[in-house]
Amino acid sequence: MHDVLPDQTPAWQYVEQVLREVLSAYGYREIRLPIVEKTELFKRSIGEVTDIVEKEMYTFLDRNGDSLTLRPEGTAGCLRACLEHGLLHNQVHRLWYYGPMFRHERPQKGRYRQFYQLGVETYGIPGPDIDAEIILLSERLWRRLGVRDKLQLEINSLGSSEERKAYRRILVDYFQGHLDKLDADCLRRLDSNPLRILDSKNPEVQQVVENAPVLMDHIGDESRAHFQELTEILDALNIDYVLNTRLVRGLDYYSKTVFEWVSGDLGAQGTVCAGGRYDGLIEQLGGRENYAVGFAMGMERLLALCEAQGGLELQSGIDIYLVRVGGAAEMAGMRLAEQLREQIPGLRLQMHCGGGSFKSQFKKADKSGAAYAVIIGEDEAIRGEISIKSLRREQPQDTIPAVEAAAYFAERL
Ligand code: ATP
Ligand code: MG
Repeated sequence: MHDVLPDQTPAWQYVEQVLREVLSAYGYREIRLPIVEKTELFKRSIGEVTDIVEKEMYTFLDRNGDSLTLRPEGTAGCLRACLEHGLLHNQVHRLWYYGPMFRHERPQKGRYRQFYQLGVETYGIPGPDIDAEIILLSERLWRRLGVRDKLQLEINSLGSSEERKAYRRILVDYFQGHLDKLDADCLRRLDSNPLRILDSKNPEVQQVVENAPVLMDHIGDESRAHFQELTEILDALNIDYVLNTRLVRGLDYYSKTVFEWVSGDLGAQGTVCAGGRYDGLIEQLGGRENYAVGFAMGMERLLALCEAQGGLELQSGIDIYLVRVGGAAEMAGMRLAEQLREQIPGLRLQMHCGGGSFKSQFKKADKSGAAYAVIIGEDEAIRGEISIKSLRREQPQDTIPAVEAAAYFAERL
């Protein structure tokens, strides 16, 4: 679990701001959800035989003996909340949430045990237009952050659950003929979740996977038409994609459309954003037949990509650093700082605390990244004046009456 240090938070805040702007441009509304849910919810939704439920969940008994789990993802909790509050009857929703998720994985670059996701979920819309919309929304994010060129869109269709069941038998038959090439993980999955073998990262297994029957060849007319329409929309709007017939996603609940945004610049952890349609999950969690599409985006991987791209253009967090030296100046400075914050909403002013010489205070002002230093010494304090030095531009120092400070900065900041 990693810390986000003060030097790193400006990048986080900038990206979070862009996320909010893009989401509201599409009419998505925020939902805030608990970080802990009943363990049962994740077992029922994500699937018993997935990496997450088999080995990644942080699960504990609370004081009542109930089994709770730190959320490993947000889709299940979001749907749980909407069902619990009756939000899904004859309604359309476009929702988002943002926050930490927890998975007990082997920590490495791009993989943490607490990581942040943006989740987007939509309910009540059956057609591929909404599948396309969330892809467009994500693409706009990449463009706003200057990383569009670093990401490739991969799409696939998983068909309906019946179609997948039929394909599953065909797939198991095929793998039965190549048992010697499968590793222990895959052999275990052969009974429980053979589609996940397609997702194996083991190079030897990948060779067998190359020649495996393709799910796309076994999906029905309706699924096929849905997928076709999605690709037509993407084509019409010039969104490049590659068809990846082996894209199956790690969670059980998907059907029809699945997609991932993948980067070659992040090493093995290249998937920044992943999602798809999961209509069936609503009934699985006790709701009526309905429609759902969403995605989850990994914040750490997105930030790593922004950094690899040359970083974000972040502004310093301070406008004014206030230097004050001497008994009377200290109190005058304290008063002025409060006055300016009152008079200029949004002003970011850091007042020097802890005393020290002009020289040492000025060094701190320089280092702070502030645009201006306001200086109050004994002389200024007695005369009711302040001196102002621009820290970014070569400019002679100004001395003005303290009462004119707000007007001076209102013009310049
Ligand atoms: P992976 O194949 O990388 O394990 P996943 O299929 O488990 O991914 P999802 O559950 O779809 O991932 O999560 C969506 C996104 O959240 C991922 O694409 C990734 O950007 C991010 N993510 C998932 N797990 C982690 C993690 N342990 N640390 C950091 N980011 C993560
Ligand atoms: Mg994973």
